[in-house]
Order: sequence, then C-alpha cells, then structure tokens
Amino acid sequence: MQIIPITPRGYCKGVVNAINVAKQCLIDYPNQNIYVLGMIVHNKYVVMALDNLNIKTIENKNMTRLQLLDEIDSGIIIFTAHGISANVKQKAIAKGLTCIDASCIDVKKTQDIVINKLNQDYAILYIGKKNHPEAEAICDISDKITLICDDTIPNVNNDKIFVTNQTTMSILEIKHINSAILNKYPKAIIQHEICNATTIRQKAIFEANSLDTLFVVGDVVSNNSNKLRDIAINCGITNVFLIESNLDIKPEYLIDSNRVGITSGASTPTYLTNQVIDCLKNYAITKQVIHQEIDITKIL
Ligand code: SF4
Repeated sequence: MQIIPITPRGYCKGVVNAINVAKQCLIDYPNQNIYVLGMIVHNKYVVMALDNLNIKTIENKNMTRLQLLDEIDSGIIIFTAHGISANVKQKAIAKGLTCIDASCIDVKKTQDIVINKLNQDYAILYIGKKNHPEAEAICDISDKITLICDDTIPNVNNDKIFVTNQTTMSILEIKHINSAILNKYPKAIIQHEICNATTIRQKAIFEANSLDTLFVVGDVVSNNSNKLRDIAINCGITNVFLIESNLDIKPEYLIDSNRVGITSGASTPTYLTNQVIDCLKNYAITKQVIHQEIDITKIL
C-alpha cells in the first residue's frame, strides 16, 4: 500500500493570520475576557485549543453573528476569518466591546468588490453556502444581494447583474452554476472569487495520479474540506473519507486500497494531518490501525 501525502494541504494564510490574531490578544489584553464570535476557523480542535488558552468561542449554529452578540456584555470580541458585516461591528461597538478583526484579506476583498458593484447599481447574485458566516456577512450588506446555493436561478428585476461567490466553493460547482446564470442572464458580469488557497488545494486533487482512496482531514463544518471531498468524488476516486483526525480511521476503510492519498482543509492543523499520515504508514507495514491520542497543546 502506497501512502501519498498531497501538496499543498492544510493551513492557508487566512487561518494562520486568524490564529495569530487570537494569540496576540492574550498578550495585548492579559486581564480581560476574550471571546471569538463563532468558530475562529472551522475546526473544532482549533476552537478547543483556544479554549485551553482561555479564549472562549461563542457559537450556536442556529444563531446569526448579530444574535450571538447578545451573549456577551463586556470584554474583547474577535471576528473570525470568515469576515463580518458592518451591522455586527456597529452593534459590538455600541455594546462597548473592544473589536478585533481576524477576517481574511481574501474575504474582505470579495466584500469590497460587492460593495463597489452595489454602488454602481448592480443587483448581486452571490454563490455561497446557506448559513455559512462568510455568506451571512456578505448578504447582510444589502437586500440587493441574493444568495444562490445551487443551479436554481432566481428572477432579478435589474438589467445590471453582477455574479460572484464565496471564497471556498468548488471550482466545478461554480462553473456549473455560473453557466446556469449565463443561460438565464447572458449579460451578467461574472467575477470568480474562489481564493488561491482553495484553488490550489482542489487542483492538486485533479492532478493526483490514480488514487483509489483519499482521506480529507478536516472538520465536518469546514466548507473547503467538504469541497475537497466533493472534487475527489467527482474525479472518480473510489473511496473518499472526510475525517476529523486519526481517531476516525477504521480498518475497513483500507481494504483493497493500494494508492492512498491524504489531503487536508485550509483550517486543519498540520499536527492532526501528520497523525493521520503516521497512522496510515503504520497500517501499510503492520495491517493494524493504531490510533494516537490527540494532545490539544500541540494543535496551535
Ligand atoms: S480559505 Fe481562502 S478565504 Fe478562507 S481563510 Fe483561507 S485564504 Fe482566506
């Protein structure tokens, strides 16, 4: 059995920045309560590691960022890598919270493009994932923005249509939906905004040679990890598993596997991916799955 780690994989610049911003708050505000509004990046082990440093995450998947703010009355609030809307910022400031923005610059760039097009009187079709914080922050900008999650294209009452997308979507999915939009609105202006980190991780799967099995290490709520899995399935890889850590590897996943690839989402700690690679390499020799414990102090 061959074990083939795929490059690039793991942390992107936006995730590295967000974690550094959170850690810097411990130095800058040593005696204050520090909170993150939602998961700082979509990985539960990163959230646990921050919690271990006394940086608390305020999260409830049924609540918007605006609603989550009601849970905090004082202290430092960190906005996550996925971006934040002006409405949420204003509410946080009005509550007297000290705001720290860990938004990724690629997410901010998309927000700026959308605002610019709104100022030019365009209607915006934004391809993204429902209830994802990045899409939530964009859609909160204006009611002239319509979220599109599949190839059902809504009626738009404006001759000027601008189309863009969440940074972590799949290349294939965006191509398909954009084509449906152009079918209905041939004059729509399309600007791809899948970030470079997402693009090169997806392209690496297209280029991986004859894998029969692929492990994507990433959190189940991580959009870019889910898209890596979708791309792999689309490429015809027979066995594709999205796992959060080495603890999720089961011996039956490896029956009849000869060429086993490993990749990981942009928010997955390298430590977790390395444990998966070690576990698979050990299986290739011993034919036994031996799980390693996760040491939360090694995550960040
Ligand atoms: S996946 Fe892309 S947009 Fe998201 S944090 Fe990383 S670099 Fe930024």
